[in-house]
Amino acid sequence: MATSALDLPEGYYAIRDPHTPDLFSYWRRHDAKTRRGTRPEFTAWPPKARTGPILYKADVPADLHGRARAEWVNTWYGKHRAPYTAAVVDTIASDPIAAGRRFAALTVRCCQCGRALRDALSKAYGIGPDCREGIPAEILALYFTPRVGRAHADHEAGKAASR
Ligand SMILES: [Zn+2]
Repeated sequence: MATSALDLPEGYYAIRDPHTPDLFSYWRRHDAKTRRGTRPEFTAWPPKARTGPILYKADVPADLHGRARAEWVNTWYGKHRAPYTAAVVDTIASDPIAAGRRFAALTVRCCQCGRALRDALSKAYGIGPDCREGIPAEILALYFTPRVGRAHADHEAGKAASR
C-alpha cells in the first residue's frame, strides 16, 4: 500500500526528484500548530519552491469556464500532480534517514528543525544540539556515520556541483 505523506516522520528531506532526476528536491513534513491543535503538512522546501509538474494558467483551455474549468484542473492534478507527490513520498519513505541526512549535507541545516548547523559534530549527525537531545541514542546512531555519510554526501554534492 502506498505511504501517505502524513505518515512520514516530521523533518526535512532531500531526494533525487522523481520528475527532474538531475535535481534534488527538498521537502518538509511538519505538524503546524493551530488554535485547535495541530495540522499535518507536507510541503516543498523552501515554501516557494516549485517542483514537479506545474499547471500554468496558459495550459488550461481558454474556452473552459466555471465548473468545466474546475473539473479540467482537477483531472489534471489527479493525472500529473498526484502521481508525482506519491513518487516523492515513496522515495522518502523508502529511507527517511538517508533523505534527512542528504538534506543536512546539501543545505548544512538540521534535518529535524531546519536551522543552520554550526559545529562539526552537528554536521556529522545532520542534526543540531537541541534536536539531538530529544532523539533516543539508538536512533541517533543511525544518523551518525561520519566517514561513510561524509563520503556519500561529498559524492552527491560533487555530482550536483559538476552539472
Ligand atoms: Zn534541529
